[in-house]
Amino acid sequence: MDFLRPPTWQDALAAKAQRPGARPVQGGTDVMVEINFGVDRPDALLDLSGIPALAEWDRADGRLRVGAGVPYARLITELGGRLPGLAQASRTVGSPQIRNRGTVGGNLGAASPAGDAHPPLLAGDAVIEAESAARGVRMIPVIEFFTGVKKNALRPDELIRAFWTAPASGPQYFSKIGTRNAMVIAVCSFALALHPGERRVGTGIGSAAPTPRRATEAETFLSRELDWDGRRPLGDAAVRRFGELVRDAASPIDDVRGTGGYRRHALAVMARRTLTWAWDDHRAEAPGRRAS
Ligand SMILES: Cc1cc2nc3c(=O)[nH]c(=O)nc-3n(C[C@H](O)[C@H](O)[C@H](O)COP(=O)(O)OP(=O)(O)OC[C@H]3O[C@@H](n4cnc5c(N)ncnc54)[C@H](O)[C@@H]3O)c2cc1C
Repeated sequence: MDFLRPPTWQDALAAKAQRPGARPVQGGTDVMVEINFGVDRPDALLDLSGIPALAEWDRADGRLRVGAGVPYARLITELGGRLPGLAQASRTVGSPQIRNRGTVGGNLGAASPAGDAHPPLLAGDAVIEAESAARGVRMIPVIEFFTGVKKNALRPDELIRAFWTAPASGPQYFSKIGTRNAMVIAVCSFALALHPGERRVGTGIGSAAPTPRRATEAETFLSRELDWDGRRPLGDAAVRRFGELVRDAASPIDDVRGTGGYRRHALAVMARRTLTWAWDDHRAEAPGRRAS
């Protein structure tokens, strides 16, 4: 197996153009497991971990551009205040060792239905910046990125450069069910983001369909139901209905981690809980209420 270690992003794109079969590796927390277990034997590894630009994040046009190689540990410490939903999800990934190495770029590359970064990226309308030497940059809305079980919209000569997302403009929550509290693949997960400026709600469902997906009917329902300006308390019926619509947006299978029926049930519970937390936060931030 050849080991390619380009020093710059341009060198990486050139290497991927020359050898589209070369397997990118960032933190290696997915790739090395597959190689060690004999699931994959690429003829070349394209190690991106020596490219400083991938490990940077910055602000542009009011949005955040986060390099594909920023590890979860830094997302939590450096961006936790701006991207609380993604930071909550990041805290649930693996162990400290995995969070020090693993990245959102790698999560997107693996495109597992259970990837924990995906629901908050969906709820936050993230856009994936992909690039190839031949065609340049392609911006892919995250809703179009996941194309099947462990499949994504990347072309063979493309690499993920970064993801773009707006800093939170309202409360964000992530909730995950596992068979234990840590080091666990999601049985199912759910992310909620309130976008009060646009009077809009974002959602993301994980591990309950062939791909991560949004609960679009639930989003539309709740966006109309919430009293964005008056911030009246939510009625039980609306909370329940939101849970049902999130549940109905999923199409989970039975597998070793849980049954489809359990996943549907758990999604409704997580949707109700995250909504209650988020709306309480939004109400608490009403002018004049903070001080009381
Ligand atoms: C013990 C353990 C626990 C784990 N727990 C969790 C968990 O709780 N939640 C969770 O979601 N995941 C978990 N994972 C999986 C893994 O840590 C995550 O998916 C992580 O985000 C992968 O990031 P990475 O940088 O290590 O990716 P890598 O292993 O380097 O790459 C993953 C995939 O992305 C591709 N890739 C990497 N970078 C790029 C790029 N720039 N452009 C295009 N393709 C690219 C690779 O070719 C590969 O297909 C766990 C893994 C282990 C070993």
